[in-house]
Amino acid sequence: MSHATAPLIGVLALQGDVREHRAMLERAGAETLAVRRPEEVARVDGIVIPGGESTTISKLARAFGVLDPLREALHAGLPGFGTCAGMIMLAEHIEAGIAGQETFGGLDVVVRRNAFGRQVDSFEADLEVTGFDSPFHAMFIRAPWVEKVGQSVEVVARVSVVHHGERPHAAADAVGRIVAVRQGSLLATSFHPEITGDPRIHAMFVDMVRESGG
Ligand code: GLN
Repeated sequence: MSHATAPLIGVLALQGDVREHRAMLERAGAETLAVRRPEEVARVDGIVIPGGESTTISKLARAFGVLDPLREALHAGLPGFGTCAGMIMLAEHIEAGIAGQETFGGLDVVVRRNAFGRQVDSFEADLEVTGFDSPFHAMFIRAPWVEKVGQSVEVVARVSVVHHGERPHAAADAVGRIVAVRQGSLLATSFHPEITGDPRIHAMFVDMVRESGG
C-alpha cells in the first residue's frame, strides 16, 4: 500500500493511554483507529500498543480475539510500536513475567518486567535518542528494560542521567540500561512518550509506517 495520504495507525484500545497516543500520532500526520477486534487489526497500516499492565493486556487481547491476529500480522510485517507494557507485549522473551504470560512477540529481545522497581521507582530522565538533535524527556512508570538484544535489533536509547529518581538506589541502577529499540518496522520504548507533549518518537513511528508501505 502506498501512502500519498496519511497512513491509518491503530491503537490497541484494551487498556492505557489510548487517547494520548492517538493525539500524538495525529500530530505526527497519521489517521488513527481504536483497535479491539480482528476486523480492525486487518484495516490498519501500523499498530501502537500502549502501556498499562502486560498481564492484563495479554488476557484482554485473548478475550477480545485479537491476540493471534495481531501476533500473525506483526510477524507478517505490520509495523508495531509498543510503550512500556506494550514493549513487553512485543518481546519474544520476557523475564519476571507471570507463569504462562503470552506476548505478541516479534522483537528479538529479552525484556525484564518491573526492572527499575515498583511504582515508587517511577522516574524521569533526559535521553539521547538516535537521530534526535536534542534530548527527549522521558517518563518511566514501573518500567521494563531491555536486557538482551538480538543481532538485528538497534539500540535507540539508553538511560544516561536520571533526574527525579524517588529512590536513589533504583536510579543509580538505571544508568546505562537500554530503554528504546528498533528492529525493522518494530519500535519499543520502556517509557511513555505519549504524556510529555513531545511528538518525536511518534513521528519516528509514523515515518517507519510510511517507509514500510512505500
Ligand atoms: N509494569 C507493567 C507491566 O509489567 C508495565 C507498566 C507500564 O506500562 N507503565 O506490564
